[in-house]
Amino acid sequence: MSQPKYKRILLKLSGEALMGDSAYGISPEVIRRIAHEVGEISRMGVEVALVIGGGNIFRGAGLAAAGMDRVTADHMGMLATVMNGLALQDALEHEGIYCRVMSAVKINQVCEDYIRRRAVRHLEKGRVVVFAAGTGNPFFTTDSAASLRAIEVGADIMLKGTKVDGVYSADPTEDPNARRYELLTYDQVLEERLMVMDATAVVLCRDQNMRIMVFDITSPGALVDVVTGQRTGTIVER
Ligand code: UDP
Repeated sequence: MSQPKYKRILLKLSGEALMGDSAYGISPEVIRRIAHEVGEISRMGVEVALVIGGGNIFRGAGLAAAGMDRVTADHMGMLATVMNGLALQDALEHEGIYCRVMSAVKINQVCEDYIRRRAVRHLEKGRVVVFAAGTGNPFFTTDSAASLRAIEVGADIMLKGTKVDGVYSADPTEDPNARRYELLTYDQVLEERLMVMDATAVVLCRDQNMRIMVFDITSPGALVDVVTGQRTGTIVER
């Protein structure tokens, strides 16, 4: 079996990654597949931290556009990520993988509070840690939370799972001339406004030199291939 390239990774999954073909919520089939793949890399000895989004349930900006107070809307978005986190924990436990959900907002009857040292200890013991509730603050995104947690726990790389196999110069589903990038710098992403992550998240990675890889999580086996170096997505680094 191929050897993993990384000792500790942070995997960012958007809420939409859990939806499959549905327009809302969680597809049991998709979450089972993702849990299976996360289980595979965990069994290889890779320490896995996960940040999960909430866009499959609520997005603060969307609720605010419909007239809701933005801070309340963001609180709902953060709670949506906790629900996704619990679903992932359940799916991972069905795979026989030990898992802990840690939330950035206190909701400690359903999951642990985020405490960095405790999170690192879980990782060292081989437990998958799911970071929920983003950064715990409104006006941020789970991409920023992913950058922050990747840096805090000292991940070797941040893997961003998307629906395409990397970053393109234009939307590849609409533009046949869209070019796929192999390698990008943080500044290129910011200057060309490439859709990797929001600017706050990219700046944080740039300033702390956290390498990002964008890959296609919807392709079965891609996570294992990326972690063992058999496939690469688009790399973003200095
Ligand atoms: N959110 C927030 N602060 C954070 C992270 C998330 O307020 O630090 C809220 C925000 O409303 C966001 C929602 O949670 O729209 C869901 O997160 P996100 O949109 O990042 O999820 P994804 O697009 O990854 O599914």
